[in-house]
Amino acid sequence: MKRLDRHKTLADYRQQMDQCVKCGVCRAHCPVFGEEGREAVVARGKVTLAHALLNKEIEPDPLLSENFSKCLQCGKCVRRCPTQVPVDDIVLAARREIVARRGQSLFGRSLTSLLRRPRLMHLLAGSARRAARLLFRRVPQKSGLRLRFPAPFIDRQRSLPALAKRPFRRRHPEFIAGQPDQPIIALFTGCMVNYLYPEIGEGALKALAALGFNVIIPKDQGCCGLPALSAGDGTSASELAARNLRAFGEHQPDQIVTLCASCHSGLTHHFKDLGPDYEALAERVVDINDLLVSQGLEEVLQQLPQATQKPKVTVHTPCHLRNSGLDEPPKKLLAALPTIELVKMNKANACCGLGGTFSVHHYQTSRQLGAAKANAVKESGADLVATACPGCIMQLQDSLDQADLPQRACHVLELVGEALEEKS
Ligand code: SF4
Ligand code: SF4
Repeated sequence: MKRLDRHKTLADYRQQMDQCVKCGVCRAHCPVFGEEGREAVVARGKVTLAHALLNKEIEPDPLLSENFSKCLQCGKCVRRCPTQVPVDDIVLAARREIVARRGQSLFGRSLTSLLRRPRLMHLLAGSARRAARLLFRRVPQKSGLRLRFPAPFIDRQRSLPALAKRPFRRRHPEFIAGQPDQPIIALFTGCMVNYLYPEIGEGALKALAALGFNVIIPKDQGCCGLPALSAGDGTSASELAARNLRAFGEHQPDQIVTLCASCHSGLTHHFKDLGPDYEALAERVVDINDLLVSQGLEEVLQQLPQATQKPKVTVHTPCHLRNSGLDEPPKKLLAALPTIELVKMNKANACCGLGGTFSVHHYQTSRQLGAAKANAVKESGADLVATACPGCIMQLQDSLDQADLPQRACHVLELVGEALEEKS
């Protein structure tokens, strides 16, 4: 009988692995293969390796871990594969298999033990903020920061966002009343909005208030679990999913909105296999851009006064939103804003190169992909590049900083929030 309380194992994907006909179509679409040109890193090669791992024909050694770590989880191979082999999920299952047989890497252990302890995270965020001047220096003329001293796992060249003065969830009460006849929307903040980009959460609250929604921000929610899953730690990912199930189940909201494309994919796609309760939770999860468009925010935005000076804004589509068929809602919200001018960018769907833990393990490859993106932003003539994923914002801003470009990366909700604020 199929167990309902765990992530799928590599064996659960055997049939889908067998569907790979080795046609090599994925070679033309995998960003990592584009940079490295090695068969072991492209989807076809990874399926072959996963198959051999499952059949115990190869051992889970460091080289194998390295090859499976070279996946951005961008899903481009899955979209183009003629037989729809779910290579991104197979890679995650292979990482779990390797961790189960070899144990966690030091990085994986450090990351997941931090994500599983929100209080510790809060404490560390507070200390890092207080020590910010000592630990970080400003990237010249930019909004980002750089580490002053070497730190484990983080490349010193990388620009980082400043920690929030006060985490988003601490700024607001658990319940914010809207109109009594309107639904109750629960906000899934995600770690990045809570600790790094609270302005995204503020924009979301303004947009939800403009539609009269009642909002709950469950205090006991935690990380969505995707970083743990990405590190091959299925146990921690399941624990985090259980925590969120409790936190959101308690309030019985009509819908749960995510502000981050990756959190959306975690809650809707990756945790559904854990059991019927998780499936029921996933059914209530909606991306905020999607919710706002379906509930008529475009009309509200179109009625705002025209700005006299409009910054040019271009859009980057996060892979996780595109894979869920949600490319359009962020663009629709931006197009409805009378405070900006929307401009096109080449390859707006190309992966930014972050890929969660990928950019930590393979910063140079991540940087090369980011450099192409920064160049596309520059060529678009935009002042700002807007997107719908805090992770993409961090990567895009780093890429712009590395290219010494003046443009800034932001979330669609920041621009929506600013426009609504000007009206009030
Ligand atoms: S495109 Fe799909 S079927 Fe073809 S080699 Fe790649 S993974 Fe296999
Ligand atoms: S998910 Fe993206 S990075 Fe990973 S194998 Fe597929 S195309 Fe390559």
